[in-house]
Amino acid sequence: MAQLVLLPGKDRSLARRHPWIFAGIVDRLNGRARPGDTVDVVAANGRPLARAAWSPESKIRARVWTFDPDEIIDDVFFKRHVHAAVARRQAMPDLRGQDGLRLIHGESDGLPGLIVDRYGDTLVVQLTATGPEKWRRAILAALREASGCARIYERSDSDVRRLEGLEPVTGWVFGEAPAEPLVIVENGVRIGVDVVAGHKTGFYLDQRDNRLLTRELAGGRTVLNCFCYTGGFSLQALAGGATSVLSIDSSGPALSTAVDNLARNPELAADRAEWRQADVFSELRVLKSAGHRFDLIILDPPKFAPSAQHAERAARAYRDINVCAFRLLNPGGLLMTYSCSGGIRSEHFQQIVTDAAIDAGQQTRLLHRLAAPADHPVALNFSEGEYLKGLLCQVD
Ligand code: SAH
Repeated sequence: MAQLVLLPGKDRSLARRHPWIFAGIVDRLNGRARPGDTVDVVAANGRPLARAAWSPESKIRARVWTFDPDEIIDDVFFKRHVHAAVARRQAMPDLRGQDGLRLIHGESDGLPGLIVDRYGDTLVVQLTATGPEKWRRAILAALREASGCARIYERSDSDVRRLEGLEPVTGWVFGEAPAEPLVIVENGVRIGVDVVAGHKTGFYLDQRDNRLLTRELAGGRTVLNCFCYTGGFSLQALAGGATSVLSIDSSGPALSTAVDNLARNPELAADRAEWRQADVFSELRVLKSAGHRFDLIILDPPKFAPSAQHAERAARAYRDINVCAFRLLNPGGLLMTYSCSGGIRSEHFQQIVTDAAIDAGQQTRLLHRLAAPADHPVALNFSEGEYLKGLLCQVD
């Protein structure tokens, strides 16, 4: 096995069990390794530290499989980790029985570069790094066995794959495309999931609990749902008895799925829903100048800062939409605001929202901090895993 030697004094992040080995701390590779091969990671003095997947083209030069330098990385390793991830979810009462569930959440499930979402009996797999790419056969076999699924679709088309020097790969890798559109039930609401053309693996499972909270808060309120995608928050707001729900997104296909989703739930009051294709940044201003006000506003924008180097520009964008939203609230109104940017830490996000409330001239209090549910765990040695953070705020 080739040996990846770190620079002197550069083993601190590994000692703290951070799974990413950046190019800047690597001295050299002794021996030969192809992308995805397992390499022994050693300190400058030769002390063994870990075993990792080699990724010569990425700034993250290797991702750690194990901090036990003697552990064997083979099919059994993947089988064990996949089974453990599935069992962890089965052990959580709020996850049991969910139709849509993240089964494997990369680094935080001990499998860097691997994302797996389950929609009913369909799995969607995303291999985002050279390590999982090399072990794809073992991973797919373990997933079939551990999940009992009927079919697996591969959605290895995320941008990060390019940084690893990998081509996009998509298609059915086990079983066949289902005859009917895929529909999951999330907390009583039916939602169509397009695993082939939808965002990410088809749906934003990480907002499941927060959509449920919206349902609990929406009764008797007028609701504005910004960045609504296929309408997850909107449908829960209707289910919770919102008096009106205006939903905005810039994507035509997302909105057309949202309209279909509403039709899939005939018990909801469709006449209370309005869908608008627009840019949220400008539409919030249009609503303000037309004198509209709302009792509950949801802001769930896309990742403005994929990494820390985009943080400053992203902060301005977050501040802008949050100022606009605060100005659109009725007295006593609620703002549910999110950032899913890995490059913005939760304290920073809270500061941005604080500044926005001050700019808007609103006396505001924080009622709840919000995050992703337990099927998106955060390994404590991997703070990047805490990408989704939300604040529920109320104005006077
Ligand atoms: N809240 C959604 C997920 C939102 S994902 C859910 O619960 O499922 C972010 C959404 O923002 C995407 O649907 C994307 O199409 C939309 N979007 C991105 N930029 C936008 C903009 N400037 N204005 C309006 N929508 C935008």
